[in-house]
Amino acid sequence: MNKPRHPLDKPARSTRTAPTGSALGPGYSAANSNTRIHGPRPFTLPQAPIRTPAAPAANLGLNSDRLRLQMVHRLREQGITDERVLSAMQAVPRHLFVDQGLASRAYEDAALPIGYGQTISQPWVVAHMLAVMSDGRTPARVLEIGAGCGYQAAVLAQFVPEVYAIERVRGLYDQARLNLAQGRARGRVRLSFGDGMQGLEHRAPFDGIVVAAAGVKIPETLLHQLAVGARLIAPEGTAHQRLILIERTGPSSWHRLELEDVRFVPLRPGTQT
Ligand code: SAH
Repeated sequence: MNKPRHPLDKPARSTRTAPTGSALGPGYSAANSNTRIHGPRPFTLPQAPIRTPAAPAANLGLNSDRLRLQMVHRLREQGITDERVLSAMQAVPRHLFVDQGLASRAYEDAALPIGYGQTISQPWVVAHMLAVMSDGRTPARVLEIGAGCGYQAAVLAQFVPEVYAIERVRGLYDQARLNLAQGRARGRVRLSFGDGMQGLEHRAPFDGIVVAAAGVKIPETLLHQLAVGARLIAPEGTAHQRLILIERTGPSSWHRLELEDVRFVPLRPGTQT
């Protein structure tokens, strides 16, 4: 599907040289990816951040409701107001989506490594992206690009009846499939292994699309798989990245808005086995 030009063509933004290198690419590490760059907005900054007590993974089953309550409280303080998103974040046991060794850190507001050089997104990033994408509406069918370990898809499935998620790394796809087979998200997430840059043409149009990895440019194919009136949210850029919100306003019109500075793992073409 070759269109004469990208519907949102604009001059390329300038990039900065990244300081260090890693398996993810220059300047990336599992600890600094899929997060926003700046801290909470000044007007919501709590004086003393709530600390989640370090709990052995084995005890988290008992304590995790309380730790999630604290996480949700912190998300509210950081400006998240969408109650459906907040209760979805309360419902999904994030510690079950990370390695046991990291389970005690699962309710910190941090991205964590999930293997293959990828990360589970920061809770604020997940909550913010889902709130902005759904915009107070109830999207019936949502596509997620970059399922990773499946956490965000599980959160989505708490309030979206049909969730489609694509992951390009085989090992993570397998991990997400196992994680999503348990718990309340069961059966509501249809996971595929493949290159999400192509979207999922046979399931389009979507009432929302969430992209969890940053490309130089948001793939045009995805814009065409949005329903009219629906929203896509995605990070865009390389060394300097921003969250971008795109709303499809008509059959051939889209509105673009630039949001926060963020740092995400790279959106890559093809698959990795
Ligand atoms: N959604 C995850 C975030 C995972 S990190 C969460 O719940 O926290 C982003 C993921 O995007 C990585 O697992 C990476 O492998 C994947 N990814 C990158 N490019 C992709 C592509 N073209 N198609 C599908 N997945 C992609």
